[in-house]
Amino acid sequence: MLDQTIVTGLGNIYVDEALFKSHIHPERIASSISYEECHKLQKAVVEVLSRAVEKGGTSIRSYLNSLGEIGMFQLELAVYDQTGEPCVVCLSPIVKTKVGGRGTHFCPTCQVISD
Ligand SMILES: [Zn+2]
Repeated sequence: MLDQTIVTGLGNIYVDEALFKSHIHPERIASSISYEECHKLQKAVVEVLSRAVEKGGTSIRSYLNSLGEIGMFQLELAVYDQTGEPCVVCLSPIVKTKVGGRGTHFCPTCQVISD
C-alpha cells in the first residue's frame, strides 16, 4: 500500500492506521498478503476512513477543513505520529521506519512480517 500501486492517494496516516488495525507489517510485500488479510485490510481502510470523516478529518500540524474547524481524528490515532508511544493494544513502543521512501509507523509486536 505504501508504494501506492494498489490503493492510490490514500494518505499515509490512514495507511498506517489501516495496517495496524489489520495486523499487517508495513514491509510485507503485497503479493504475500493472503486473501483473508486482504479482506481484513480492505475493511480496515473503510473503517479508518469513515471514522476519520466522522471526526471531521485529521489535524496534524495546522490543517483546517473548509469551515475553519480542526479535525478530531488525530486524537484516535493508534500509530501515526506516535513514535515511542506505547501501543494501545500491547504497550510496545511504536516504531517509525521507511518503506519505499515514505515514513511509516507501526507496532513491532502487533504487526508481524510473517504469520
Ligand atoms: Zn502492539
